[in-house]
Amino acid sequence: MLDAVTKKYIDASTEEQFAFSFFCDCCGKVVSTTPLTFRPGFKKKLFISKAERKAREMLWQKDHDAAYERANIEALKQLNRCVVCGAAICNDCTVECEETDGKTVCIDCAKKNRFKGMIWNDDNETFSVDFSTDQTKDGT
Ligand SMILES: [Zn+2]
Ligand SMILES: [Zn+2]
Repeated sequence: MLDAVTKKYIDASTEEQFAFSFFCDCCGKVVSTTPLTFRPGFKKKLFISKAERKAREMLWQKDHDAAYERANIEALKQLNRCVVCGAAICNDCTVECEETDGKTVCIDCAKKNRFKGMIWNDDNETFSVDFSTDQTKDGT
């Protein structure tokens, strides 16, 4: 399986459903993806042989991996990549910096590098941030 787009993610898949949640690398905000129902197309049977069970498990695994890949792509659409550290970040943590020609930088890197830039909020409004003159001490 490929690496998840975010450092932290949860696989909440069950026998009937594939469900994945991802978390912003910067603030940890959850990024949900659409759950998919597992439709194996098997007849409902009371008794299944070992071989059949094995076949079902293999099919589940195959569909699970495909669903995982899809969920990663879906999560990535909701996230931005920091061009400095490569973190997958939500809009709240994304700064479009002057120093990177408007490419997205996570708020941590923007602070560390003392960049200037713009942040989009959920209402599609921008506000500018300027870390070049930020005198606040880094708590970490
Ligand atoms: Zn975030
Ligand atoms: Zn970064």
